[in-house]
Amino acid sequence: RKSTVVITGASSGVGLQAAKALAQTGQWHVVMACRNLSKTEEAAQSVEIPQGSYTIMHLDLASLESVRQFVNKFRESGRSLDTLVCNAAVYMPLLKEPLRSVDGYELSVATNHLGHFLLCNLMLEDLKKSSSGDPRLVILGTVTHNPKELGGKIPPRPDLGDLKGLAEGFKEPYSMIDGKKFEPVKAYKDSKVCNVLTMRELHRRYHESTGITFSSLYPGCVATTPLFRNHYPLFQKLFPLFQRYITGGFVSEELAGQRVADVVADPAYRQSGAYWSWGNRQKKDGKSFVREVSPEASDDEKAKRLWDLSEKLVGIG
Ligand code: NDP
Repeated sequence: RKSTVVITGASSGVGLQAAKALAQTGQWHVVMACRNLSKTEEAAQSVEIPQGSYTIMHLDLASLESVRQFVNKFRESGRSLDTLVCNAAVYMPLLKEPLRSVDGYELSVATNHLGHFLLCNLMLEDLKKSSSGDPRLVILGTVTHNPKELGGKIPPRPDLGDLKGLAEGFKEPYSMIDGKKFEPVKAYKDSKVCNVLTMRELHRRYHESTGITFSSLYPGCVATTPLFRNHYPLFQKLFPLFQRYITGGFVSEELAGQRVADVVADPAYRQSGAYWSWGNRQKKDGKSFVREVSPEASDDEKAKRLWDLSEKLVGIG
């Protein structure tokens, strides 16, 4: 029997290549959980994911109702869930004013963190029933979450503060987790800190009792993906060159996708609570290692408080 993996945001970039890498092994059926069905079908065909090895299902992470509907649809499909990959994200560095999710929350934190937070909580039940003997839940992180690393030093730095914005309900007039003025780049970085805190709290709460492996990874700087579609055109041109020739951080979409696939399927990555990295400068045949997360992302008290407040905001608290 093939194992089943759900990958969010598999219509482009890292998620698409991870879907391809897993489908190609012949051992995985990939559920591509995406907001645009026809775009995803075209993307799957363009990178030649074998027919029959994937299913596309609708999921809009910027709507809590859509997350719930996705989980119901998935259950109706009769598939068992063996691994969940939370990969989708939006990055909107040039926004002057915050955009809002269907539920009224600032859009990047709503999509990258809150939608995935609800999805993880609901699908935990499905993962518990996996008969693969090795269920996993993987959340994409990023180096920019960590001011202690080179790639994380560029301001604005993430800072969840005392989570005032979340505690106040995260709707207008609040748009930042710390309750301060809207800053779109920081909102993205904050959401990725939340991703790492969520992974660590899932591990603390559920690893021992369920045997599920919870992990995160920084796949490298994948400077060519549409993640930067909302940036200046000149930035989109120069950033890949800068990463390739100056910082040495450049990673192809294929390689990043393969790294996600490895964290999903390779026995070497069966370590719960781990945040995997291949370093900042890419070396030929560079090996992965468990990297320390940022001081804020390793704060257990913050992880608990973020969990409690997120539960309320997604309606399960
Ligand atoms: P892309 O922009 O290529 O892919 C993002 C995916 O998320 C797309 O499939 C997009 O769908 C989907 N998505 C966005 N909003 C929603 C939503 N509301 N509901 C469902 N899906 C949604 O980005 P990358 O491949 O670069 O990024 C993937 C992950 O890797 C992210 O978590 C990112 O933080 C992480 N990462 C990326 C790095 C990089 O350098 N690129 C570095 C480190 C981490 P659609 O096609 O419809 O827009």
